[in-house]
Amino acid sequence: MLLEINRVIKTFGGLAALSDVTLSMEPGEVLGLIGPNGSGKTTLFNVVSGFYRPDRGRVTFNGQDITGLKPHIISRRGLVRTFQIPKPLPDLTVFENIRVAAFLRNQSDRAATEAAQRVMDRIGLKEIGQAPSHKLTYGQKKMLELGRALATEPRLLFLDEIMAGLNSAETMEVIELLRVIKKEGQSFILIEHNMSAVLAIAQRIIVLNFGMKIADGSPDEVIKSDAVIEAYLGREE
Ligand code: ADP
Ligand code: MG
Repeated sequence: MLLEINRVIKTFGGLAALSDVTLSMEPGEVLGLIGPNGSGKTTLFNVVSGFYRPDRGRVTFNGQDITGLKPHIISRRGLVRTFQIPKPLPDLTVFENIRVAAFLRNQSDRAATEAAQRVMDRIGLKEIGQAPSHKLTYGQKKMLELGRALATEPRLLFLDEIMAGLNSAETMEVIELLRVIKKEGQSFILIEHNMSAVLAIAQRIIVLNFGMKIADGSPDEVIKSDAVIEAYLGREE
């Protein structure tokens, strides 16, 4: 298994953001993680990537227990997430932001520069490579966020609503890029409200509701599940 999340609980005050969540994932798999707002999706990413420590439960990545390790240790082991709100270093250029991330896997300046250039080609921000990142549009910042994650050459990538707030052309670009990296064997989990995007990309879909996993199966199974229809698809958001 690439990832095993075993009976994870995370509470905030009296609120159970995650109630006994168990989930596993094989190398090369692409999962969609869906659920209403506040259902615990981002919290699950935060717990697994080391930003929060779970109250109980265990997370195993590549056969090693990573529960409670710090985010920088976990990312070095190859598990990297993007943020719902993009967080580039504002004064650095697009290229420099990606190069900083590329240093995680490349020791020399030259190797990091070349790796950053390859990522720039993929994400379509080449023309604005020299722009300071605070000048970017929201959509460009989201692409940069994805580029910074890819530059770390993750074994497993967590994408938190990377399509939210994008226009339809930008959304299509992201879907296309995700299809390409999926074909290359990249493992990733996609938190996404855009159901047609999830259905176009994910091989398996996990559904959270009030911090509980209420479905885990093929897209076909999940969209037919009564619990899911009730909890999520039947609700206007
Ligand atoms: P989702 O990403 O599915 O919209 P979240 O994981 O962000 O949901 O939130 C799940 C629940 O946990 C929500 O009720 C949210 O308010 C709460 N929550 C998340 N992070 C914190 C925090 N740092 N402190 C307190 N409550 C939090
Ligand atoms: Mg969220």
